[in-house]
Amino acid sequence: MILLAVKNLAVQIPQQDKTIHLLKDISFTLKRGETLAIIGESGCGKSTLCLSILGLLPQHFQTAGNLTFYKNGVEIQLQDQTDPHFNNIRGSIVSMVFQDTLGSFNPLFRCGQQIIDVLKEHVSGSPIQNKQRAIQLIQQVGLNDAEDVFNKYPHQLSGGMSQRVALALALASNPDLLIADEPASSLDSMAKNQYLDMLRELKDKTNLALILVLHDLNDALRFSDSMFVMYNGRGFEYRKKSDIQKTPAHPYTRALIDIQNSLNQTRLPQQIPGEVPSITKLIPGCPFHPRCSKRSDICRTTFPPPTFFLNNHFVCCHHYFKSN
Ligand code: SF4
Repeated sequence: MILLAVKNLAVQIPQQDKTIHLLKDISFTLKRGETLAIIGESGCGKSTLCLSILGLLPQHFQTAGNLTFYKNGVEIQLQDQTDPHFNNIRGSIVSMVFQDTLGSFNPLFRCGQQIIDVLKEHVSGSPIQNKQRAIQLIQQVGLNDAEDVFNKYPHQLSGGMSQRVALALALASNPDLLIADEPASSLDSMAKNQYLDMLRELKDKTNLALILVLHDLNDALRFSDSMFVMYNGRGFEYRKKSDIQKTPAHPYTRALIDIQNSLNQTRLPQQIPGEVPSITKLIPGCPFHPRCSKRSDICRTTFPPPTFFLNNHFVCCHHYFKSN
């Protein structure tokens, strides 16, 4: 069952003499219980995309395209970032764990109280029930001494605890979709895997949909059902994880997978030549053409339209690799 449909989403910043295009023509759908990994190098627009789904972009940003949530048979279309429907959607349908988890908390209040405040807004319950539920949420995210954590102030949490309490805070409103921007990026690899395993268990138990913003391709391949590969504010490839793993269709995705395979086999990876362009730089044709070994003349002048597969999955490349 579809929960979210993003269609031709664009985000731009109008300036006096020019317009800066941050996101261009982003489209994907997300089902209940599905995990979508958004991957791409730093600065390709992943976080901007997440904030636009929550209606949290700065006011001077302009959006175009369609963002539609589906809940209990009702279709909720968001017109732009100022759409008042976002106030109902944030928390009740979608919530987010931010990269800077400490920034998600009010430093003046104990962690438990902050979870209770979210519960009061979204879930009806007596003060005792809310406290019990807050403690249960802290336990659910894998913290054993839940009463103790409940009474701590945010600055008293370690990095790992703060990641988990921020997750408890995001889950308190009982959302249908959780967006996690670089979850557990500050944790060591064992703690990160435990955190991502816990997210997967939660998702399986509650049919929660997940959007994971990840820079580690290995994590995307382990924890997602489908992947959305971004570059320079665009979606280059959107397909099932298993298809991308077997036969990456876009040269950029293929290069990322090759690098990951080399690292896994402790071989020296073949780096992608050139540098990641700034998201604000408008590159004619395919934005990957300065770095792509498969480019031809058309790549320098014309952005490749999407070639669609099943389930609205697509690849944008004039010369994509075809599966056998
Ligand atoms: S469109 Fe051309 S430049 Fe872009 S990825 Fe495909 S082959 Fe490379």
